[in-house]
Amino acid sequence: MQKYISKQNLNTLLDTMIAEGTRVVAPCLNAGIPLYEPIKSASEMVTELLPRRSSKEAFFPVCEDIMSYAKEGQHVSLKDIDPSRFQETVLVGVRPCDAAAIPVLDAVFSWDYKDEFFLERRKKTTIIGLACTDADDACFCSAVGLSPGETKGSDLFLTPLEGGGYACETFSDKGEALITSHKELFSEQTKAKALPLAEPQTEKIDLKKVKAWLDGHFEDPLWDCIAVRCVGCGACAFVCPACHCFDIVDEGTEKAGKRRKSWDACGFWKFTHHASGHNPRNLQPKRYRNRIMHKFKYYDDKFGQTLCSGCGRCVRICPVGIDIAAIVEEISKK
Ligand code: SF4
Ligand code: SF4
Repeated sequence: MQKYISKQNLNTLLDTMIAEGTRVVAPCLNAGIPLYEPIKSASEMVTELLPRRSSKEAFFPVCEDIMSYAKEGQHVSLKDIDPSRFQETVLVGVRPCDAAAIPVLDAVFSWDYKDEFFLERRKKTTIIGLACTDADDACFCSAVGLSPGETKGSDLFLTPLEGGGYACETFSDKGEALITSHKELFSEQTKAKALPLAEPQTEKIDLKKVKAWLDGHFEDPLWDCIAVRCVGCGACAFVCPACHCFDIVDEGTEKAGKRRKSWDACGFWKFTHHASGHNPRNLQPKRYRNRIMHKFKYYDDKFGQTLCSGCGRCVRICPVGIDIAAIVEEISKK
């Protein structure tokens, strides 16, 4: 389905859904920092700035309780957190690099173990993607086969038009249902031209060549060379829309506490620290090698796609200037 919505009607749509009790998550400013967060009014939405962290938090929070326990005398009671309590959500203004990473997460969270916390939120969320009209030096979506107009992962996709408003295109039943249930706010497509899309300044990287090199170079001097300065802060994994590792920890006392699921990062020294004391990734280059291998080989081996959508966040945030795009490009030329 293809329609048009004015900016004013988009705001009315969001405000109506908020009033109806839908959780609306959108790019907005929190203490001046752009983040995807629940908004109380459409006027809070800020689409001009790339959110500092990705939209994965709408399904996969930084930290969440998954059960609690309490002990009284000899009796221990366990209480599950019920995922059915999660609210219906509309995730709006999602950058194409973030939306494209969501099906990547779907694959891993519904693979051998069905993660009901992720899947229930996912089921209840409608994703409204937004085409990118600006890119910075770190953006490289087009280098990994995506684009500023990529619609993968979106239920409904908005393209800003010259003269204002958006062309809307649906890509799922959820997207169609959203338009159908608020049809008075949408009209037939206009002839207005789309605003020029962003143009990331990167050449397409041959990801097949990258994978072929990785297949044969688990041991290679490159790993020491590129990762010797990595400080293992984990920031690259935390801002990434596709990274999905987590840890489960019990927090509390002998009498009461909670079991919590929290983001983890393969750059952390303890990530593969065994109970025996042995750590197979005892040095930072081995940990950084895992980051590249996981994104461009292991995930591809398992699910037939790459675990990077070229959002550039890890490039922007790395405190020691490690640039994954430059590394992958270098590998593609070997
Ligand atoms: S690896 Fe870096 S550039 Fe790729 S999706 Fe993750 S944060 Fe973005
Ligand atoms: S952000 Fe940079 S320094 Fe921190 S773990 Fe990632 S690559 Fe290493």
